[in-house]
Amino acid sequence: MSLLEVKKLSVAVGDREILHAASIEVKRGETVVLLGQNGAGKSTLGAAIMGAPGLKIMGGKIKFNGQDITELTSDKRAKLGVFMAMQNPVEIPGVSLKELLRTAGGELKDEYLKALKLSPFLATRDLNVGFSGGEKKKAEILQMMCLKPKLAILDETDSGLDVDAARVVSQVIADYQKQTGMALLIVTHNARILQKLKVDKAYVLAEGRVIKEGDGKLVKKVERDGFKAFVEV
Ligand code: ADP
Ligand code: MG
Repeated sequence: MSLLEVKKLSVAVGDREILHAASIEVKRGETVVLLGQNGAGKSTLGAAIMGAPGLKIMGGKIKFNGQDITELTSDKRAKLGVFMAMQNPVEIPGVSLKELLRTAGGELKDEYLKALKLSPFLATRDLNVGFSGGEKKKAEILQMMCLKPKLAILDETDSGLDVDAARVVSQVIADYQKQTGMALLIVTHNARILQKLKVDKAYVLAEGRVIKEGDGKLVKKVERDGFKAFVEV
């Protein structure tokens, strides 16, 4: 059954329309990959699904678990089980990861820190302040695990992770998905984060439009040949 249905979604920032009637679907437990060149609108699509403020919905709708969530705040969407790991995690001076999770009703477990090879000390520091690129990305995955979403949107989680860290994170995500049945919508330019996952479906986004849909083979093809089959490069 369908968990996330984005139907003909058009989204603007200010008076500029960035997404044009984009439609995607994620079923329960699936792993779906979102591909596209820089500036294609991948992060905007993720942010629109999460309900980020500042985005104007110009048309279409977003359904989650059968419910129309197009007008809901991001808090409410989070409570329903939508999570997004941001491309550029923001610093929150004065608030530790531990405190943030407590406020959000998440459960911080030592085993999660251990699996991600993170020091427990990290959870007590101000969130993302002075974190390395890799620690920021791992901290996002840690939040995901503690919040137990039904759908996790991972926006370029691989960026900032070294080869070994990417393997660790890929394994942690795969194990967690196996345990919980969580669905994944993954934005990536790097197949490393997918190495332990089974890709069910992939979409290519270009200039705010979904221009191609396929399976795991599509990810491999783009990895090999780039986007030249779909857009002028
Ligand atoms: P991607 O994640 O695929 O690289 P983005 O969704 O970040 O692409 O951006 C898509 C387009 O929308 C880009 O041209 C970007 O400059 C523009 N854009 C995104 N957010 C904003 C914003 N807050 N204000 C103005 N333009 C934006
Ligand atoms: Mg992006």
